[in-house]
Amino acid sequence: MQQSSTKFKKRSRRKPSEFVDIANERIQILFSRAEEEFPLHPELSNRYVEIARDIAKKFNIHIPVELRRKFCKKCGSYLVPGKNLTVRVLSDEKKVARICGVCGNVMKIPYSKRNKRQR
Ligand SMILES: [Zn+2]
Repeated sequence: MQQSSTKFKKRSRRKPSEFVDIANERIQILFSRAEEEFPLHPELSNRYVEIARDIAKKFNIHIPVELRRKFCKKCGSYLVPGKNLTVRVLSDEKKVARICGVCGNVMKIPYSKRNKRQR
């Protein structure tokens, strides 16, 4: 009897998938905490980002795109537009430049349907 693909019965040395689910949930929680703490304790937000990135690395999972855009890949700071993040539209390149106000790292992201969300 074959089970559907939603259930893994594989025995391996890798982390069981339920841990991956928990890890994903943790990451979501950490980012929402980071958002809450930012106005008063931005350094705590950075710490949450750091923990979330550690979890992602440990479980070999990807941080969702919408969360990945909330921190600087270079220095790991939690970024808030208008606070420590400058967003510029580079119409020539059809990209959005996101400039980290902490380390000055420029992250260029091609336009996508998702960017409409900002306004
Ligand atoms: Zn940075």
